[in-house]
Amino acid sequence: MPSQTEKNPQKQWSLQDFEIGKPLGKGKFGRVYLARETKSKYIVALKVIFKEQIEKYRLHHQLRREMEIQTSLRHPNVLRLFGWFHDSERIYLILEYAHGGELYKELRKTSHLTEKQAATYISSLTQALAYCHEKHVIHRDIKPENLLLDHEGRLKIADFGWSVQSRSKRHTMCGTLDYLAPEMVENKAHDYAVDNWTLGILCYEFLYGAPPFEAESQSDTFRRIMKVDLSFPSTPYVSAEAKDLISRLLVKDSSKRLSLEKIMEHPWIIKNADPTGTC
Ligand code: AMP
Repeated sequence: MPSQTEKNPQKQWSLQDFEIGKPLGKGKFGRVYLARETKSKYIVALKVIFKEQIEKYRLHHQLRREMEIQTSLRHPNVLRLFGWFHDSERIYLILEYAHGGELYKELRKTSHLTEKQAATYISSLTQALAYCHEKHVIHRDIKPENLLLDHEGRLKIADFGWSVQSRSKRHTMCGTLDYLAPEMVENKAHDYAVDNWTLGILCYEFLYGAPPFEAESQSDTFRRIMKVDLSFPSTPYVSAEAKDLISRLLVKDSSKRLSLEKIMEHPWIIKNADPTGTC
């Protein structure tokens, strides 16, 4: 499949090219199935989206943007989108298959991750985001549900639904509140540094099992984000180096947040992250 799309990027795919297997999951706009490309026997995940849903929510521009961005990205920690096709009712996305499923489920199973696992995921995410930022793509919706794992446990960023390709500061409000940077909650102009904030949130959630500003109501979460009301529970035990990294990312002034380059040089990452990205 990857070589086919490389050799012939214009190839017109259709449902006849695939054998459909078990359902892998259900999203907001459709279902995802395991599938095999008949000729090459290559296993993929086929995401089926109903056009009616897309039209109802006027999401065609967003979906097209998501598809164009994701097909253009080539990184070991970014889920590949090999191509897409449609029939009268549905749109089909041909996606790289992530055998390990959602990282979210892994996190819920064990309640929190080890420092080695957390550092490996943060390092993989940082490298993927550095690559995206180089291509002027801001993801803006990084959360555990959008992170998948392959058969070796390697992290893959999926779902570019909210991402934008941009060279300037952006204004639109989007994403889930818990993972949003203060400048996004306030609907102020924002840039690449929103993804750096989210890395801090995720690092905290990986180690403690819940995001740092979780609250009963959206308005309380909003207030906690705005105040950067950060505290570290005494259990589970988390090293001082991990807390140092989190504190350097959850900084209100976006220009003072640790850069992606500096994250990769941080002692906690150096000490704990697996260089192969598998754990
Ligand atoms: P989504 O519509 O993208 O939210 O996907 C719904 C569910 O299908 C996800 O929560 C995953 O469990 C599963 N899924 C989506 N994409 C893939 C993939 N590429 N490989 C394996 N499972 C996937």
